[in-house]
Amino acid sequence: MKTIIVWFRNDLRLHDHPAMTTAIKDADTIIPLFIFNNDILKGRHGSANRNRFLLESLEDLKKQLQVKGSDLVIRYGKAEEELHKLATAVGAEAVYYTADYTSYAIQRDKTVKADLAKQNGVIFRGFPGRLAISSLDALHTKAGTTHKIFSPFFRNWLEVQRRPVATLPLQFPNLPTSVAPEALPSLETITDTMALSPDVLKGGESAGRTRLKNFIKNDVVHYRETNNILAIAGTSRLSSYLHFGCISPLEIETMLPQNEGADAWRRQLAWREFYHYIIFNFPANAKQEFQERYRTLDWGHDKTLLAAWQDGQTGYPVVDASMRQLLQEGWMHNRARLIVGSFLTKDLWLDWRHGEQHFMRWLIDGDEANNNGNWQWIASVGVDPAPLFRRMYNPASQQKNYDPNGDYVRKFVPELKDVPDKYLSQPWTMPEAIQIASKCLIGKDYPAPIVDHAKARLEAFEHYRTGSQGNKA
Ligand code: FAD
Repeated sequence: MKTIIVWFRNDLRLHDHPAMTTAIKDADTIIPLFIFNNDILKGRHGSANRNRFLLESLEDLKKQLQVKGSDLVIRYGKAEEELHKLATAVGAEAVYYTADYTSYAIQRDKTVKADLAKQNGVIFRGFPGRLAISSLDALHTKAGTTHKIFSPFFRNWLEVQRRPVATLPLQFPNLPTSVAPEALPSLETITDTMALSPDVLKGGESAGRTRLKNFIKNDVVHYRETNNILAIAGTSRLSSYLHFGCISPLEIETMLPQNEGADAWRRQLAWREFYHYIIFNFPANAKQEFQERYRTLDWGHDKTLLAAWQDGQTGYPVVDASMRQLLQEGWMHNRARLIVGSFLTKDLWLDWRHGEQHFMRWLIDGDEANNNGNWQWIASVGVDPAPLFRRMYNPASQQKNYDPNGDYVRKFVPELKDVPDKYLSQPWTMPEAIQIASKCLIGKDYPAPIVDHAKARLEAFEHYRTGSQGNKA
């Protein structure tokens, strides 16, 4: 009798799960396992929104396994200790898992592997599944170096041979009676700060697959035209399901139709793989700027400015709408993330790490690789560099371009509901009579701008020029 533990982490699905599909072929007894670890749940990236989505995803997984004759075993504590105990108790020959690429995951897995090897040689075997490609080692520039620019990475990524999608196991062996599966915990017990958004998507593979199928059937064809319009549901909102592995990026590729919209959308999925590749190859990015010359920038830390940005009280309507969407939905439109990222770093001259941290607290899709990569990108300190002015956005022009009717702004900033279109992107320019008529007195009902964009823009150029090592921006 051969027993294998399948250790679930951020791969919370049964479709296209190579570790599980192989375990079913290799063993007579399978123990599907999830371990709650406080270092992650209550650590520097802890998030009530994400913990809730995690619990919903586990609940879905547990139900699916139960329907197929098995169960999800729940344990609490350090991975190496819990795996050690369980492997001993069930006499497991191996632990299978889906490989992950952040330095935390790599370090943890090394510890677990060494520990299990000492324990009668229990095998610890990683499988692909986090990304559409099976291995990051296959990707490099023509000169054989690590990619740092997205476009050549993308061309290279498109050419990489994909593995076949893993078949969905129809039936699972029963859990041994000696193993108590245990119920899922409450959200309160696994969460430090109960900062929850009210208007969120439900977690889990079932919900993720339904959303994916609907998006591919109805919306992906229009993606190229609609993905930047803030008020339209033109994007998939699948990021949280991808983060928790409720859906497989490889399976998604096999479901895509052939049209321009699907091509544009697949390119976005490649950005996700690019940032996983970057954090894997440059793990120090998690804490510091990729571009060495910008590690000496003298970022600000003004708490009042930061709080105004976090609370959506900056006086710039599109910035405030975006920040309030984050608090309300635990998600923010990509265009909005770019606008608020540019605003925090270039207009307010606040350290991009404050933005990264706030996003990690609230975003259900908060993901170290994607979040860090994008924050460095918009702060102009990361990989895929571009001249500074290209990532320095004017909030009023962005609003006019991407929320031309003001629907997005009016939805999330109701104080501006009756402000005429003409003034909606710069409400502080409203004559007093119009402020009264639209029940929006600037400085009373809605804040005056906390910074002058035109002035802040020039100051930012100066900061980057004088603060960088060697003074060359
Ligand atoms: P769609 O437009 O439907 O795109 C499909 C998928 O492609 C997304 O679900 C996502 O997995 C991937 N994707 C799209 N754009 C990007 C991108 N720029 N970088 C990486 N992957 C991308 N995304 C996260 O998943 N987690 C984060 O923590 C995160 N933080 C961000 C921080 C900033 C400052 C910025 C500018 C962007 C961030 N993004 C992050 C990327 C992007 O905004 C979201 O992935 C996207 O808005 C999710 O919505 P969607 O699923 O509807 O995307």
